Amino acid sequence: MKKWFIFVSLVFTVFSFSGINLVFADEDCNEYQIAVNLGFKLENQAYGKFETQVFELPKPMDNLLISIDVQKSPDSIFRSYASFKDKQTGKWTSFQEFEGEFHFANIHPVTAYQLLFIIRDPKKGTTLIRRFTAQGENLGEEVMQKLSQKPVPYQPGNQWAKPTIVSRQEWGARPPKSSYTPMVADKIIVHHSWSPTQAQYKGAATIRGIQNYHMDDPSTGWIDIGYHFLIGPDGVIYQGRPETDLGAHCKPNTGMIGICMIGDYDPGNDLVNDKMEKSLLDLLSWLSSTYKLDPRSTYYGHRNFSPKTCPGDLVYDRMDFYRSEVFKNIGGTNRVVDED
Ligand SMILES: [Zn+2]
Repeated sequence: MKKWFIFVSLVFTVFSFSGINLVFADEDCNEYQIAVNLGFKLENQAYGKFETQVFELPKPMDNLLISIDVQKSPDSIFRSYASFKDKQTGKWTSFQEFEGEFHFANIHPVTAYQLLFIIRDPKKGTTLIRRFTAQGENLGEEVMQKLSQKPVPYQPGNQWAKPTIVSRQEWGARPPKSSYTPMVADKIIVHHSWSPTQAQYKGAATIRGIQNYHMDDPSTGWIDIGYHFLIGPDGVIYQGRPETDLGAHCKPNTGMIGICMIGDYDPGNDLVNDKMEKSLLDLLSWLSSTYKLDPRSTYYGHRNFSPKTCPGDLVYDRMDFYRSEVFKNIGGTNRVVDED
């Protein structure tokens, strides 16, 4: 076996809330956060296998979001694998396959992890695995139990029309760094951006700024913008990631569609206006009727799964109103009706 020379640098990022950083957005507070430069490179060879060191967590955690930054040669097949050390048994799991982003969530916390990468490239091009970022947290058994409960079956009464949504192409999105992970939605999580505020909002440029921050900052480093949808103070709805793929906005992300209301809705700051609320209600009604998400029981604020105040009291206090308005729009029943 060839010995690979690895440059590993650990960058613990300190959040800086300086006024210069206008685009920031209200991410989870992570108990564990790491950005590691890997510099694994496959060149003039058809096959390469790269393994990281073992990374010990500062405390046992039940949630870990891992994002890989890789520059692939067009013909290569790239696969990432992650293995985790179970706290209770001390045993390592088998390597679980993913491509660019992986959210580990398990009721049994883990104490360490290791990554493995395999590249196959018949044309022997250059593939560079630049770095990975990881953010971890321990949500605790109670939250994890709650998250593992299956939603009650729900059949919407009618299909709500899809509102106008600014496409990724229209707002000038960068392509994702790697392939998305498909998911089946079972919850909708409402966020606020906190920063940018309404006054800092500049249309599509703001959405591009949030995407850059989510993809490039060492504290996030995700493969794409974290949210599935964003709504501007002008009521314009933007598409983030496809809502059928895993996002990066609220741990454990799996099954969670993330909607971000641009602005700061903590008390004494921005106000939620009618245009935004109309767009949000149209979006929720369409999502709920399309993906069979009961408006009465599947809408949450980010704060339900995080110590953050997100989406701010002004939005959070309106959530019961949103639930009942959407139910008025699309109706529905918890009996699943047999279709002929
Ligand atoms: Zn949030």
